Amino acid sequence: MARLSRYKLAHLHQLIVERKGNAATIARAVGCAPSTVTRHALLLGVALPRMQVQSRQGAIMARYYRLKAEGLCVSCAKVAPAKGVKCRKCRLGKVQHRRNVVASRYYRLKEAGTCVSCAKVPAIDGQVRCTDCAAYQRASLRNTRCSSD
Ligand SMILES: [Zn+2]
Ligand SMILES: [Zn+2]
Repeated sequence: MARLSRYKLAHLHQLIVERKGNAATIARAVGCAPSTVTRHALLLGVALPRMQVQSRQGAIMARYYRLKAEGLCVSCAKVAPAKGVKCRKCRLGKVQHRRNVVASRYYRLKEAGTCVSCAKVPAIDGQVRCTDCAAYQRASLRNTRCSSD
């Protein structure tokens, strides 16, 4: 960890002695890690006010708003999104993942010769669905066609 400059150290000690805040707020004011503040407070024999315990949800929202305010992707925090709150990669990531899951199930069942719809019974020869599912599929296709008229 980077050593604090003499100026920062004096500032840090002053804030601790005056109990200007808890470890987190003093750390932010001086620009060091909260653990450094705690260590120095211990050395100085000062009991700092307790840090506010933030709920997990609160921490998540705080991160979200901080990244949003900084104009960074709220998911990876690495790049600035062109629009919205997530970068292209993170936005597509979820959709792509879902697509992969669906596709892999399809090919796995197809390879095994199992119906890709119900995954319970073997598919009809040369097709990807069983008799029931194929019939159901045809019926539902017909229904959507009729209802669109
Ligand atoms: Zn991202
Ligand atoms: Zn089936």
